[in-house]
Amino acid sequence: MSSQDQHEFEVAFSTVVSHILHRNTTLSHTSILPSRDAISTTLSSLPETLPEEGRGTDSTMQHLFSSVLPGILQAQNGPRYFGFVVGGVTPAAQLTDMLLSSYDENVQVYMPNTTASVAIEARTLELALDLLHISRDAYQGRTITTGATASNVLGLACARDHLYANYKYLPPGYSLAQRGPPSVPNLTGPPIIILGLHPHFSILKAAALVGIGAGPEVVQQLSSRQDDELAIDLEVLEKRLKEEREVGRGVIVTYGLGEVNTGGFGQGLPEVARICKRYDAWLHVDGAFGGFAGVVPELRHLVEGIDQADSLTLDGHKWLNVPYDTGLFYTRTPSLLTNVLAPPTGQGPAYLSTGDLDIPSPLYMGIENSRRFRALPLLASLLSLGREGYVDIIRRNVSFAQNVARFLLQSDSYELLNPIISQGSHGDQFENQDESTGVGKDDQIKDRIVSLNIVLFRGSSNSIYPPSDLTSARRLTEKINSTGKMYVSSTVWRGLGAVRIAVSNWRTGDEDLIIVKDVLDGVMNEKI
Ligand SMILES: *Cc1c(COP(=O)(O)O)cnc(C)c1O
Repeated sequence: MSSQDQHEFEVAFSTVVSHILHRNTTLSHTSILPSRDAISTTLSSLPETLPEEGRGTDSTMQHLFSSVLPGILQAQNGPRYFGFVVGGVTPAAQLTDMLLSSYDENVQVYMPNTTASVAIEARTLELALDLLHISRDAYQGRTITTGATASNVLGLACARDHLYANYKYLPPGYSLAQRGPPSVPNLTGPPIIILGLHPHFSILKAAALVGIGAGPEVVQQLSSRQDDELAIDLEVLEKRLKEEREVGRGVIVTYGLGEVNTGGFGQGLPEVARICKRYDAWLHVDGAFGGFAGVVPELRHLVEGIDQADSLTLDGHKWLNVPYDTGLFYTRTPSLLTNVLAPPTGQGPAYLSTGDLDIPSPLYMGIENSRRFRALPLLASLLSLGREGYVDIIRRNVSFAQNVARFLLQSDSYELLNPIISQGSHGDQFENQDESTGVGKDDQIKDRIVSLNIVLFRGSSNSIYPPSDLTSARRLTEKINSTGKMYVSSTVWRGLGAVRIAVSNWRTGDEDLIIVKDVLDGVMNEKI
């Protein structure tokens, strides 16, 4: 770098640092969405063609500040962005992510005498299991991914190869990764099916990608229990798995921890796991955000059985509040991953070989050959907060969601849609707790209604956004979001429009509740 370049870097660097510092101190009051004008300005500032001559670092950064950044989301990592399930970024994670770019290490091959990065990543994946109170022995195949979708791809790929390796009509150890999809003339219908209760869209994407198929013939709905629409009917499941084993079909059962519209949990994961084991079905648990209920003692019962799956998906960029893009994938043994992702023995490129394989190389455990050192911001975040810090984030977020739900319940203008948790299920636990602690009726109500961090609602029939008008939920969402003070998603729940608030940012605090109530009141009184 010439001294001129170095100088330019220093100037631009301090501008970037000031910008970030300013954002950090003002984030809570930054309007969440860019203005329409800002978006148009950004779009019109984009070059039509590749410039022949570069404008240099400093001028490029100035251009980003003045013309490009104003057109993107201004505060998705702020405390009142409640769309989808996004999470923010903890201070240590943010700083570490910035540092990472300055090292730009490619985490690829395990070379213990050259870099500690792979071992750091391996330890980080263990610490994340510790955070969830999952025994490290339960999942010894571990890797960092770009998110829950990528983890679901890995889960289904492991499942596929495991099922084919043990397939009734194929030679033992049949490897799809090496030999391609088998033909199974003895079987009508697909060789592998996926059973689940409303699997997340990313499961369908994963099923299509790994060649299992994602149409309704392959991905089939299980029935839910009559008393719990989020719980799999175990009798139906068992009967089905028995039949499929008799015909010799491979079965993957996907189990979502945390329903995306309501944050609700069905019961019975340990039983589902036992049944899957009995009939040799592969159990894939998608706990992208809901898995983190396991961090908090009083919510841990919701994820009972999370250590019983064959593969487990967790997200880093949601409730762990580490930067995009970070996901975690776990499976029983490393070989389940390397069977799919490592080259057949002896056929790997020589320059990638490593003598010592006590930790498999990341490129044999994940989708990418080259990738960012995503584990480091996660490690920094875990170190900076400790278990207590994460318990605190999750408790605060859940309590915030419950407070919003309570507010909506008491309002004439809104209808809360989170299903009431039935008697005899998790409600009992709270009931016992209530007796012993003497918690008031309000608390009982809140605990029964919002199981986790998601609040689902719509305008009531006597509001200006009545459910009878099919455009209400969308208009209400737009109205709320146009305030710039909070951001919500619209969704469809039981065939009707609804609005959804997902609370998963470490910054969200009591002062935000006041703003949220003001906005929700204001849009109904047309004061906003
Ligand atoms: C968010 C989510 C996904 C997709 O995760 P990405 O990190 O966006 O890839 C998958 N499953 C569930 C249950 C989710 O909540």
